[in-house]
Amino acid sequence: MADQTQTALLLVDIQNDFCTGGSLAVPDSEEIFPVVNAAISEARENDWPIVASRDWHPVDHCSFEHRGGPWPVHCVQDSHGASFNPKMELPADAIRVSKGTAFEQDAYSAFDGTQLDRFLVRRGVSRLKIAGLALDVCVQATVKDALDAGFKVDLLAEGSRAVEDDKAPKVLDELSSAGARIIG
Ligand code: ZN
Repeated sequence: MADQTQTALLLVDIQNDFCTGGSLAVPDSEEIFPVVNAAISEARENDWPIVASRDWHPVDHCSFEHRGGPWPVHCVQDSHGASFNPKMELPADAIRVSKGTAFEQDAYSAFDGTQLDRFLVRRGVSRLKIAGLALDVCVQATVKDALDAGFKVDLLAEGSRAVEDDKAPKVLDELSSAGARIIG
């Protein structure tokens, strides 16, 4: 009997500001690209939906340090820093999901305020392969929300890196305990 599981690839916030040279660069972010691009190839071969989320903040967003938030200015709408990193071989028809677009509210998860779960359910998706940046912030929040929404999750650990690298094993343990399958 054919496998009825429909998979989608979800790439979290692989944007210039989170990569080497960006305003909020995640250490060793360069290392994710071979894994991410292999996952994109696999998704294209299997005709899986490819979804790319992006942090997409208005100017003076509440998460910025000069507003009392925890982060330097990053991913301002339509800026170079907010663009998807060109090392990611994102197909032109990949589905873009923008988050953190309200002035006074932040969003770490790709599901937060986006109704992404409803879109995926409508497409018949039941399993997500997830990779991206940063493991201990937006990827973590996205995986948790995906599990809470009832999706099976395969987390591509080698396709993700943490802002605080020493936190990575703990985050992976937590997400594994929550039900995610951690794969290379
Ligand atoms: Zn942000």
